[in-house]
Amino acid sequence: MAKYIDADKLIKDYTDIFTEYGIELAEQFQGVINQSPAENVAPRESAEWIEKVKPCEWSEDDVEISYKCSHCNNIFDYVSNYCPNCGSKMKEGLRRE
Ligand SMILES: [Zn+2]
Repeated sequence: MAKYIDADKLIKDYTDIFTEYGIELAEQFQGVINQSPAENVAPRESAEWIEKVKPCEWSEDDVEISYKCSHCNNIFDYVSNYCPNCGSKMKEGLRRE
């Protein structure tokens, strides 16, 4: 399955990191991203994070929280604006399972 990303967000997030290693590396990174061919895709907006809470195996007083994408059903330990696996744009808020 192809994975589509937000190139502008990627550049924004990583330019500061690469700049620490030299402006040339940051510029090379931006060049590679900007020269990559763009696909004509629109983000899916129908997905949402489903919060899963289960008792922690090693502590009775604690819980484990994970988040499942409603589109691809992959499970993560964090939420983001887009699903890292399928690229769906996620609705705000969480649904409890
Ligand atoms: Zn997904």
